[in-house]
Amino acid sequence: MTILRLDLETVGKIAAGEVIERPAAAIKELVENAIDASATRIDVSIAGGGVDVIDVRDNGYGMTIDQLPLAVERHATSKITSLDDLGSLATLGFRGEALASLAAVSDLRLISTVEGAPSGGELRSRYGTVSQSHPMAWARGTMVQARDLFSNVPARRKFLKQPQTESGYVTRVVGAYALAYPTISFSLDIDDRTIFSTSGSGNALDAAICVWGAEVAGSLVPLSTPDETAAGYSISGIVSLPELDRATRQQQYLFAQGRLIADRRLAAALEQAYHTLLMIGRRPIACIQLSVPTDRIDVNVHPTKAEVRFADDRLIFGLVQRSVREAISRHASFDVKSVIVSSPIIDQSVQRRMALAHPEWLDRRTAERLHERQQDGLDAVAVTPHDARRLPVLRVLGQIASMFVVAEGPDGMYLVDQHAAHERVLFERLMIGVTSQSADKQLLLHPATVDLPLRHWETFLKSRNDLAALGFDIDEFGATTVVIRSVPAALKIKDPHHTLLMILDELAAGGRGETRLESAAISAACHTSIRAGQLLTLLEMRELVRQLEACSSPLACGHGRPTMLRMTAQDLERQFSRR
Ligand code: ADP
Ligand code: MG
Repeated sequence: MTILRLDLETVGKIAAGEVIERPAAAIKELVENAIDASATRIDVSIAGGGVDVIDVRDNGYGMTIDQLPLAVERHATSKITSLDDLGSLATLGFRGEALASLAAVSDLRLISTVEGAPSGGELRSRYGTVSQSHPMAWARGTMVQARDLFSNVPARRKFLKQPQTESGYVTRVVGAYALAYPTISFSLDIDDRTIFSTSGSGNALDAAICVWGAEVAGSLVPLSTPDETAAGYSISGIVSLPELDRATRQQQYLFAQGRLIADRRLAAALEQAYHTLLMIGRRPIACIQLSVPTDRIDVNVHPTKAEVRFADDRLIFGLVQRSVREAISRHASFDVKSVIVSSPIIDQSVQRRMALAHPEWLDRRTAERLHERQQDGLDAVAVTPHDARRLPVLRVLGQIASMFVVAEGPDGMYLVDQHAAHERVLFERLMIGVTSQSADKQLLLHPATVDLPLRHWETFLKSRNDLAALGFDIDEFGATTVVIRSVPAALKIKDPHHTLLMILDELAAGGRGETRLESAAISAACHTSIRAGQLLTLLEMRELVRQLEACSSPLACGHGRPTMLRMTAQDLERQFSRR
């Protein structure tokens, strides 16, 4: 076996493969370069999924003509001078690799100018070889145009997906940066069609309306950093309320130190905040920006910088989870008095849908106008309940298979799972008791003595405070025996002994809530709610539906299963081929 040095061209292609794995990765690098160049406007267009053409233009500070060859040279950067600079990095780029890598696998044109220079310059490079560089008139900033991506690395090209799918990845990346940098005006064109353009107004909601659409923007709430967060750490961004969800994580963006990253644990933290509020398998929408002290993050651990390493990842995990949870529940408590705002930046259809829980989130002018109108007592500002995720009033029609309640609402037919629905009702009642710190208890006439199996003893000791918070007063009674003196009044517990064992069983298996308390509540609600197979009278069904209507999150049970299905009149018409 002989070891040989690879020639430079091969080295270039290999390295390029790591950085520029697909068109979207190239776009991410080019957008980051534009942001580093202080651009306030970034226009991206692609054709053929980004394989035929990638074109990114910015109005940043640009480069002089003599710098252009250096820009496409490997390991040439204006952003750091030594590894020490990484500890206090203020730019997104630092490796000086992206342009060189893109140049190695494409037919590249680079045009740039700096303010005050007599003219700009253009550089052409074909698959790693600079062919020419000459002066050229150029108004402002930089343009990078790459054509025929990977045509010199067929193996890489083979792994690309259909142009439509690659375009989708590009849309995701540009959309993410447009949301995270609302002060920059972004536009994205795909095959000569404008996908979105943002105004750069600095208002996150404005950007969200452009990128995600008006429908989505009406269900978003802003994140803020929880009070007791460690110094130097902060979180901001926007997340969806539980009324809105998606089947995939495509619309979840996570930024750390201004860069788009992938982090499974943080995605899990985000989703845990929605625990019991979303059905299993449904995903929230989010754009989250984290900022940590520069010496507590390592951004140099991944070839495309798509992953970072946090020195305190548990702290960050908790920060995401708490902040999202707070944002969702803060909104919930504001439900009844959300403000519908007339804003010139938001079109009419959105205005009607939009219930902004937080006027401070609006841009200043809108907020001032809102304030004036409130002062004037004008009715231009309507105060109405925001009931998008509440249930309308339903008319109960009957029961099917001793399992489902059939009801009619203003927007179609509802099928309610009686067990899941009752479980949601009981779960919310228990949690309300906990939050108000006054769980309604029912003292047992005959306290129940329970010999706990040894395997449950530990679980009992750990969870007794949580059980007490729910309304279970339980005393130790020697060895592994306990006495149940009271149970939550919200639950109809016929056999306290059995209920306790069921709860401990579920807790020992890990529980299904976000906390042990929540797990205990879910389990208690589940084991005391109406069963499937139980025949209900019309009165009982009406009562159940009325209680569900009063729930703050009526759509899923504590375990995340749906409580109901809805078929609109249109759905029914379609089924009967009337449409
Ligand atoms: P890095 O961003 O890690 O420095 P790149 O290969 O992406 O490496 O870019 C190399 C250099 O080219 C940058 O350091 C910067 O000086 C210059 N450059 C690249 N893109 C732009 C741009 N859009 N505007 C101004 N300068 C740019
Ligand atoms: Mg760069």
